[in-house]
Amino acid sequence: MKKVKRLYDQFKPIHYQLDLVPDREAMTFTGTVIISGNKVGRPSKRLTFHQKDLKITSAHIVSHGKQSDAVVELDRNNHHGSFDEVRLHAAQVLFPGKYTVTLTFTGTITRAMNGMYPCFFKDDDADGTLIATQFESHHAREVFPCIDEPEAKATFDLSLTSPINEAVIANTPVKNQTTVKNSPGLIKTEFERTPHMSTYLLAFVYGKMEYLEAKTKAGVVVRTYATPENTKYTKFALDVAVKCLDFYNEYFDIPYPLAKCDMIALPDFASGAMENWGCITYREQALLVDPENTSMSAQQYVAMVVAHELTHQWFGNLVTMQWWTDLWLNEGFATWFEYLAVDHIFPKWKMWTQFAVDEQQQALKLDALEHTHPVEVAVNHPDEIRTIFDGISYSKGASVIHMVYHYLGADDFQTGLRYYLKKHSYKNTTTLDLWDALEEASKKPVRTFMHAWTSQSGYPLVHAEVARDHVTLSQNRFYFNPKAKKSGSVVWPVPTLSNSIDMPETLDTHDVRIDTKHSENFKLNHGGSGFYRTTYNASHLQQLAGRVRSGHLEPLDRLGLLADMTEAAKSGFTDVVEALNLLKSYKNEDDNAVWDVIAGLLGSIKVVMDDESVRDSMKPFIRDLVAAQVKRLGWEPIAHESHFDRLLRPTILGIAAASDTPEVVSVAKEFFANMHAPEDLGTELRTPGPRASLRNAGLDPDLRGVVYGTAARTGGEAEFNKLLAMHNASTFSEERLNLCAALTGFEQPELIARALALIDTDDVRLQDVAYWIAYSFSNRHARKQTWGWVTSHWDWLEKNMGNDLSFYRMPIYAVRSCSDESFLPEYKKFFGKVLSPAFERAYNQGIEMIEWQSAWKKRDLKLVKAFFKAS
Ligand SMILES: [Zn+2]
Repeated sequence: MKKVKRLYDQFKPIHYQLDLVPDREAMTFTGTVIISGNKVGRPSKRLTFHQKDLKITSAHIVSHGKQSDAVVELDRNNHHGSFDEVRLHAAQVLFPGKYTVTLTFTGTITRAMNGMYPCFFKDDDADGTLIATQFESHHAREVFPCIDEPEAKATFDLSLTSPINEAVIANTPVKNQTTVKNSPGLIKTEFERTPHMSTYLLAFVYGKMEYLEAKTKAGVVVRTYATPENTKYTKFALDVAVKCLDFYNEYFDIPYPLAKCDMIALPDFASGAMENWGCITYREQALLVDPENTSMSAQQYVAMVVAHELTHQWFGNLVTMQWWTDLWLNEGFATWFEYLAVDHIFPKWKMWTQFAVDEQQQALKLDALEHTHPVEVAVNHPDEIRTIFDGISYSKGASVIHMVYHYLGADDFQTGLRYYLKKHSYKNTTTLDLWDALEEASKKPVRTFMHAWTSQSGYPLVHAEVARDHVTLSQNRFYFNPKAKKSGSVVWPVPTLSNSIDMPETLDTHDVRIDTKHSENFKLNHGGSGFYRTTYNASHLQQLAGRVRSGHLEPLDRLGLLADMTEAAKSGFTDVVEALNLLKSYKNEDDNAVWDVIAGLLGSIKVVMDDESVRDSMKPFIRDLVAAQVKRLGWEPIAHESHFDRLLRPTILGIAAASDTPEVVSVAKEFFANMHAPEDLGTELRTPGPRASLRNAGLDPDLRGVVYGTAARTGGEAEFNKLLAMHNASTFSEERLNLCAALTGFEQPELIARALALIDTDDVRLQDVAYWIAYSFSNRHARKQTWGWVTSHWDWLEKNMGNDLSFYRMPIYAVRSCSDESFLPEYKKFFGKVLSPAFERAYNQGIEMIEWQSAWKKRDLKLVKAFFKAS
């Protein structure tokens, strides 16, 4: 693959003065940028800057010599499309030194949600438009010429012309506002100078918005902005943000670096949120909480996203990765700190138990593929950048941090981080800088310990053979796919975290035998902070199962044990009956996180075995397994119940409904029947539609998914029409996604076709398209039709979503639920044609998924049938 040259190697910007004049009606903008900086390296006849789809209308270079300044005569400027560059060719040789470059340019505001883009919303039934930016990872170049690499930090003076009477927000406070000559409706806003920072963090938003405001203990003004009707729903996020900032000020021992912190909910947004320094943008779902209608899990999600983005104000913005190879430094830390901060603010939410399922287990699954990548990943081409915003950078990154946190202990870890952030403030770092700082603080060999975990892909399966007087441990890289090309004999320094005093702290070799008199109840990875999987010999596993039944294992250990046995079965290291026999010990399980693992095991058996007789014979077994929890939790929130019980209720009722538990299905159907479709409601209730209907039906918002899902699974055209009417009337994004999940869950071919036909219409927002497709693919009745729709609408998808991360996951969505190898030729034929660097990893992962899932099915289908028949 061609390697793109770094422009920072030839020009180091110091300061940008950027004036932008967008035209919302014409969807264009004009701008001027004055870039001052130093040319470095060899003398040459050109200066090169990043730009994409801009038209440079004039260029002017002044060289600042020791004695005097001189205007540089320019021969020509070349737009170099394939490299995203503009090359300014001088008539003379340019020597290293100080230069000022002035460029004027024009560009377009694009529907695609990056660069400068519009967000559409309804304001009192009138159409409103906000203008916003999204520059990470390399989209600043779509708005102004610059050196668009994270290492090229500079300061920015931004001015922006926008309609008078509208909110206008950028990274720093407003310095000055002046009216624009001959344009009475416009105002020019100058913002304070930014700190020394990367281009991808620059941002602005303007349009009709309102805000709530609060202050941190240190006096930083925090505001949450949203479109007028949504502003009141930002209160929860505002409270969390203030508490988070207070916590981080203390924890990092560095005050929040800016005078203000704005958080803005945007009606159209490609990812979850973006940490622009002081001007953080969010998908509405990630910032808005309606106390009456937001589910507990969605509310928790808001707290976590806010904590994540605020972590970045230090990790990422103040100290930035040198190049995208170390993206994990940003994302791994921000992900890990979500849990630390939210655990601090809401100690009863048991965040670290959730961490085990939502980060570690997800990362372990992704990293069991041959076509995974190391946490520190080589990035050559800009198009590869977007592919690494994935579970490895976020969840595995967070998981290895979790491991080093436990290895060092809370105090040394914090001391090391403070040292790291202070030493590298306003600069860029690599992974080694972090290990050095932690090593300095702890005097432990952090480099040696961590290097293997971040520089090589995958992780080990540690098998323990436990005998009366000794334990033998051995480690091998864990792969799902029996066909995976095994990489030689890699070894990790595995923290044993065992409950036996005779065990070494780490397993550093391929295998080891340890004599011990304390092998009874022996367990590895106690507390689950190690990033690896464990299996035991059968007799010892029985002993551990006994400890699950007798209530002697903590939730994290119960969770890890079952998850590891499940995944070992998928990979063929054991068979599925061992996992299912172990599952029988979880009949009294009442922990939400453990239930997520149980649901995952049952779900993957259903999906991968893909056999109607298996589905049917599983139902009584599952009904029996959930019965105690259905009875305990019921449909109504119980006064003073725990956070975990609230999160567990929809999981349990969802499993019970899907396995046809009659009393659960009938209640769900009754709820749905009692809900009013929007056309039944009086006009005063119609906005915001389903919010009103929810209250009418008296349904707990946490349980909407169960009700809608059951209506779809058991219903027909009438249910479809009602769900669709509710969807189209709703402006509430959580609700719309719940309804999307239901609308894509029917089994009738004509209703599947109707759901698919909605995707490229105005009924579905571009930001939600990936959900519609992923959900449709996961409906076994809809897989074929969805494949047909995607392949026949590929050009539309590419045009409208071509810059979204989710677009590049299409190969994975297509086969995540496929265990039929006969689909491979068709898959390869289609994606082979559209393959590009950005697709390559997902494409290969897709092939692997089909292969390992069909291999599992071949091995275990008979066993599964026999097990459920007998149980
Ligand atoms: Zn992030």
